Amino acid sequence: MPSGRVHNLINIAMYTGLAAGALYLTQQRSVVITPAQGLYFSLGYGVGTFLLSPDLDLAEGNVDSKRRWGPLGFLWVPYGVLFSHRGLSHTWILGPITRLLYLGLMVALLWGLVNALLPHQFTLPLLGPPRLDYQLLATKLGYPLLIGYYLSQWLHLMADGVRPDHGLKHSRRKMRGAARHFR
Ligand SMILES: [Zn+2]
Repeated sequence: MPSGRVHNLINIAMYTGLAAGALYLTQQRSVVITPAQGLYFSLGYGVGTFLLSPDLDLAEGNVDSKRRWGPLGFLWVPYGVLFSHRGLSHTWILGPITRLLYLGLMVALLWGLVNALLPHQFTLPLLGPPRLDYQLLATKLGYPLLIGYYLSQWLHLMADGVRPDHGLKHSRRKMRGAARHFR
């Protein structure tokens, strides 16, 4: 199984190829990719490659993807404990979502903790619902962000030799085992 370094190299090589292809097609006017779309795709791809790698399921140890978080790396230890290596974390659809949800949870917890520790007069203002242009995000920029993120994750899974039906097979096997148990 490839190391974190090899995974990064594969993703960087693929990104370079994609960027060159996109540039060429844009110059040929075959496709229209706006700078904002390119930027959001790159952002999703970079975060997926360097910060939210599927191998965070090994974060109870000393893994490359945890080290990238620097002093905040310890935040991923519970994720590593919770998720077995190459289990749900390495499924094609749900796996990448588990890391996004976990990150959201950690941010919320840290926010609450900082608020609780600060003296009363310094309480951080609670952020209201973010004033985002949801339509713009959903139609124009959310797609490239999500595509970049998922693509970086799928490259990792392909390099690991994990097939798209990985999760399905796993749960099917579990269900068959349970059925046998009740027979
Ligand atoms: Zn992996």
